[in-house]
Amino acid sequence: MTVVIIGAGPAGLSTAWHLQQLGHTDLVVLEKQPHVGGLAASCSPEPGWCVDIGGHVVFSDRPGYMALVRELTELRELERRAHVHLAGALARYPLQLHLGDLPDELEQTCLAGLERRPPRPRAGSLEDWLVDSFGDERGCFIPERPAGARGPELARVFLLPYNRKLWQVDLHAMSTGWIKGRIAPVPRDPGSRVAWGPNRRFAYPVEGGVGAIWRSLAGRLGNDVFTRCPVGAVRWKDREVETPTGPRGYDWLVSTMPLRELVASLSLAPPRSVQSAAAGLKCTRLVVTAVGLRGSEPHLDAHWVYFPEPSFPFYRATVLSRYSHAMAPPGHLLLLAESSLPPDGIARRSPSIDEVVEGLLRSPLARHLGPKDVVFTWQHHEDGGYPIPTRDRDTRLDAIHPWLESQQILSIGRFGSWRYEAGNMDHAELMGQEAARRVTGG
Ligand SMILES: Cc1cc2nc3c(=O)[nH]c(=O)nc-3n(C[C@H](O)[C@H](O)[C@H](O)COP(=O)(O)OP(=O)(O)OC[C@H]3O[C@@H](n4cnc5c(N)ncnc54)[C@H](O)[C@@H]3O)c2cc1C
Repeated sequence: MTVVIIGAGPAGLSTAWHLQQLGHTDLVVLEKQPHVGGLAASCSPEPGWCVDIGGHVVFSDRPGYMALVRELTELRELERRAHVHLAGALARYPLQLHLGDLPDELEQTCLAGLERRPPRPRAGSLEDWLVDSFGDERGCFIPERPAGARGPELARVFLLPYNRKLWQVDLHAMSTGWIKGRIAPVPRDPGSRVAWGPNRRFAYPVEGGVGAIWRSLAGRLGNDVFTRCPVGAVRWKDREVETPTGPRGYDWLVSTMPLRELVASLSLAPPRSVQSAAAGLKCTRLVVTAVGLRGSEPHLDAHWVYFPEPSFPFYRATVLSRYSHAMAPPGHLLLLAESSLPPDGIARRSPSIDEVVEGLLRSPLARHLGPKDVVFTWQHHEDGGYPIPTRDRDTRLDAIHPWLESQQILSIGRFGSWRYEAGNMDHAELMGQEAARRVTGG
């Protein structure tokens, strides 16, 4: 039985690895890029510097994944220090658990807004859910309703603008099923406020950026991984894919390329319902800008900072040189800014490198430095940044995946499954493991 795997990102490499672990060797991984790792790749655009495609950290509640990553790379263990930059102040992340860090007046209006929350938030759309604030009626920690309480200020000043900046779509069009573990609720027990979230402790490779993990896994797969090998048409009736060296037959196809592209590449058109479902899937586009500076680390003790305000052309900036000193030459600082652009078809200008540099130099991450300290810049565009959980997404996916599976095609991974809530590296690794079991009948 021949298994062809499209893509050498975490999901594709994991599929191949788990197939091999199950004793299955008739497989091949076809990757269009010259390198492996997909969105979790790292590169060295200049000697001495190492950048990731956005701030990636390693975390999981699955011991098996963490054990595999530890076996593949030497990791540093870190305790998350993240902040939100708002109204000229910095508050610890998650902001909703650290309102005391805000200027007094803003803190009071946010607290008053929380007190006025309805007992149950509407869950129809992300916008409604955020406005009704944080969805947990047990979570009210304000003992008395302050006089003159106003609306949901915290949604207005932070959660709505930040989510609009990240998702780049009308938040009424987004669902809420993915929120758990991604947006901190206001807890009932104030004692549990301090360390929230699955990535409150994380790990990071000592050398080579996050991509070191996936390079190491590809190394173990030997000659089964082919880079610079884009898959063109997928001839599902004949069970073969078109590659630069000719057609390759398969019994099972495991695809990690974006689901929309996979359906578009099916050479004999699939049913109309599948085509139209795939065409309506939406994702953000991503712009990553790396800026290397000569000088000391910022005074602010942060791994990354969220920027909800429109005056900054990025939604998050990471101090990558704090993850590992191997990311930048000694005496230098490496910052990585992420910006979102709306889905295809909606025009919006991408921030220029100069605009990002200017924003970073204005921010608490680099305002101790100046333009003359900038020694290196790099900008990277990805057509797919975040698969958007729109309200119609699940109906669309239900029309696509069962049909593909009926043709012996499994579409997995961040953009293969198109499920943001299963879009991290550990999910990709797990989907690869499940795909390997599935095709071997396990
Ligand atoms: C900004 C950002 C920050 C993130 N932070 C984290 C984090 O902190 N922690 C975490 O765990 N995860 C994080 N992630 C998610 C992580 O990047 C993904 O989970 C992971 O890359 C998904 O792996 P994948 O294999 O499903 O997809 P991808 O990484 O997208 O890999 C798909 C591969 O398929 C290849 N391909 C596509 N089309 C073809 C074709 N036609 N022929 C051949 N090859 C093809 C692509 O080149 C690519 O290599 C982040 C993602 C982003 C964008």
